[in-house]
Amino acid sequence: MLATAVIGNAYDVALENFDTAADALELSQDIREMIKYPERVLTVSVPVRMDDGHIHRFEAHRVQHSSVRGPAKGGIRYHPQVTLDEVKALATWMTWKCAVVNIPFGGAKGGVTCDPKHMSQGELERMTRRYTSAILPLIGPEQDIPAPDVYTNPQTMAWVMDTYSMTKGYPIPGVVTGKPISLGGSLGRNEATGRGVFYTIQSACEHLGIPLKGATVAVQGFGNAGSIAALLLYDAGAKIIAVSDSTACVYNRNGLDIHGLIQLKNLTGHVEGFPESDPIEPIELLALKCDILVPAALENAVHADNAASVNAKIVAEAANGPLTPAADRILERKGVFVIPDILCNAGGVTVSYFEWVQDEQHLFWEAQDVYNRLERVMKTSFRDVLKIHLDRKVPMRIAANMLGIGRVAEAVQIRGIYP
Ligand code: NAD
Repeated sequence: MLATAVIGNAYDVALENFDTAADALELSQDIREMIKYPERVLTVSVPVRMDDGHIHRFEAHRVQHSSVRGPAKGGIRYHPQVTLDEVKALATWMTWKCAVVNIPFGGAKGGVTCDPKHMSQGELERMTRRYTSAILPLIGPEQDIPAPDVYTNPQTMAWVMDTYSMTKGYPIPGVVTGKPISLGGSLGRNEATGRGVFYTIQSACEHLGIPLKGATVAVQGFGNAGSIAALLLYDAGAKIIAVSDSTACVYNRNGLDIHGLIQLKNLTGHVEGFPESDPIEPIELLALKCDILVPAALENAVHADNAASVNAKIVAEAANGPLTPAADRILERKGVFVIPDILCNAGGVTVSYFEWVQDEQHLFWEAQDVYNRLERVMKTSFRDVLKIHLDRKVPMRIAANMLGIGRVAEAVQIRGIYP
């Protein structure tokens, strides 16, 4: 999992994006008051006995932004730069994302300010279990369902599930998604984000009349989301001309063999030194002439200073928040077609929803069932967002926010206010 570098305050961006879409939807002030801000914010201290015997206190948060359309849903992030504002922003985006793909979840996010790269498995397990017990009053399969995010994984979810289940006295797999298959995880969850990115790129190419076969692609970030998206694009006949990770960038104008590159990454942990490729500076990747640019690494990768050099027809936001608002404006002027993150990378939470449904029913689906349902959800959502983009003549990001925020606004209006 990756390191994040947030330029500015992500929560300010989330609020600004909300206002823009709410204005376009002409939402009343009353509705804005009810859906704009987090419903619950919990900050906890997590004391952990470290391997050397001393006790370290970690600060941690769980934010439930919305439960208007269903249980709050969102990952847990472990990172040294986790802040409450970042968690609030990510929770807010989860609400709109779940509504864009029309799954019956609200939005949430958790975060622990820690440096997992320098912690042992034992320390990570103790921290995860204590964090889980600290947020226990908030989570549950009908209340708030965590999942993996940056630097957390299926093992982390297994510890959350076990801690929660032990306090209740019986196994409750539906309290988390992104679990190992042996604990009630779903087939297809691991590759769901990259697969969803692929489906939205297919739809965008169809819309723009760009044949995917032979299309040139550059992928920044070769982790879970980026590598799976690259593999599916490669298998569909696209030419992946450049791929980067945190240490290197490999380039071949005639296309890289993505199966071989994944083998190398699994073997060595990086893409550096891939045969039949030339090394280029990672930052050069963003400016390569190509049909499709896939930022799948850090937040704010494309910003005011480098957006003008982007030379792609489509930018598919596999990462969360890879374009700053300033970059958005520049790409809009250049006529670049952006598939916004809350649509593009929503495949992950969609299959999380499938996992939760399977857990609740104790009935598990074949991988192909998962893929077919995911494709239907992603392509329908793309069409819904595209329609608003074309009808209302707004950028795709605003269109996606309008769709998500509009659905939450409708739900809150129908539910009314308690008491
Ligand atoms: P990951 O850790 O598996 O992969 C990230 C990759 O980015 C790694 O290969 C890393 O080396 C690379 N990277 C880091 N810094 C880089 C840089 N400066 N330049 C180029 N590459 C760099 O993470 P992931 O799960 O694939 O997540 C990537 C993004 O996708 C994040 O923004 C995450 O929030 C978003 N996302 C992921 C999922 C999911 O299910 N995995 C779902 C929705 C959104």
